[in-house]
Amino acid sequence: MINKAINKPNIVRGLYSLYNWIPYHTGMLTPYPVGSFIINISRECEMKCMMCNIWKNRRSEYKGYALDKDILSKTLSESKILKKMPYIVMTGGESFLRKDYKDILVSLLNIPHVLKITIGTSAFLTTKILSDVEHVMQNTPGGKQIALQVSLQGTEDVQDRIKGKENCFKRVEETMRGLKEIQKKYPDRLILYIYSVLQPENKDTFEKTYEFSRKHDIGYSFGIVNNMLYNKNRDDEYSKERVTDSDIERLVNVNPIYGMLRTWNKKNFTQQSTGIRCFAGYSSFFIDYDGSVSPCLPVSTLDKFRMGNIFEKDFDEIWKNAAKVRELTKKCAMDECLQGCDRAVVRMQYFLPDLISRVLTFNRYSLLRSKGMIER
Ligand code: SF4
Ligand code: SF4
Repeated sequence: MINKAINKPNIVRGLYSLYNWIPYHTGMLTPYPVGSFIINISRECEMKCMMCNIWKNRRSEYKGYALDKDILSKTLSESKILKKMPYIVMTGGESFLRKDYKDILVSLLNIPHVLKITIGTSAFLTTKILSDVEHVMQNTPGGKQIALQVSLQGTEDVQDRIKGKENCFKRVEETMRGLKEIQKKYPDRLILYIYSVLQPENKDTFEKTYEFSRKHDIGYSFGIVNNMLYNKNRDDEYSKERVTDSDIERLVNVNPIYGMLRTWNKKNFTQQSTGIRCFAGYSSFFIDYDGSVSPCLPVSTLDKFRMGNIFEKDFDEIWKNAAKVRELTKKCAMDECLQGCDRAVVRMQYFLPDLISRVLTFNRYSLLRSKGMIER
């Protein structure tokens, strides 16, 4: 696993993440977004999940622009800044609802510096997903990868209840079966894993979901229900407040690695209280469906965090002139990002300080472990 992570693109990303401390602290030089690059590719969703109200449709929020393969290819091919970024994450809504999705994926994966696209999906649209994935594999060069993150919230009726639709669990099984067949043909290019959101409706049965992933030999990861403006879930009754410490301990018993979710559930786990910085707008950014650029997904619905729009200006111009928004991110006090979507970026940014703290103390002290960002 570690050997796979040590490759030229990751070494370049690591070096630029170190370099990004300079613009972060001095305000001089241009940062390079080498941590996380998320695109909201679809505003529609066919699910009616209990923990997310995107299905109530964000159509009215958009003012006429809509990302397509032309604007995305142009942005990624022409930007000098984005040439440092080999990995893209696509979220929604449900990406596979887009008729032109396979064309978008093919065109982006054919750009030399784009190596991998990670896609979140409910796996409900079995036929469309299998046909799109097969098409993309056939029409992109060897070495280019797709990682599918399948949303599985429980087995059998738990999945159907949470997703708000009948046969969701059966569809996940069917889609997974088909994807595994494709994976046999492209073993190094198609990556599959399951993602669950720990929430009131599945917290008593999540062990079964974990067993399901083990049985099918599929990677597994967890998050915790998150009431964000982005997913339009402002329901205080259905929130992380109802996920208890003992639920988290059961999760840790399943796999110790999930211990890091303890801090996600903590109130006031912020940049200010921990001293750990999020680096949104420096090492990471988000492009919304209408082309607007923000430092991260959680603040993308707030006008004051908009850096610009790629339909109106080149990405590089937007990125170089975003000092005001970057100042806002430094003051942002959201209290789950450091453990949630921004965790990977934080770990990349703090790799060297953490390593130094371990070496100097013969591994008795780790900066990130002391903050609860990692378990070991
Ligand atoms: S969680 Fe995902 S699948 Fe469910 S409604 Fe939201 S976007 Fe759709
Ligand atoms: S702390 Fe604020 S700016 Fe930083 S990742 Fe979280 S929401 Fe974004």
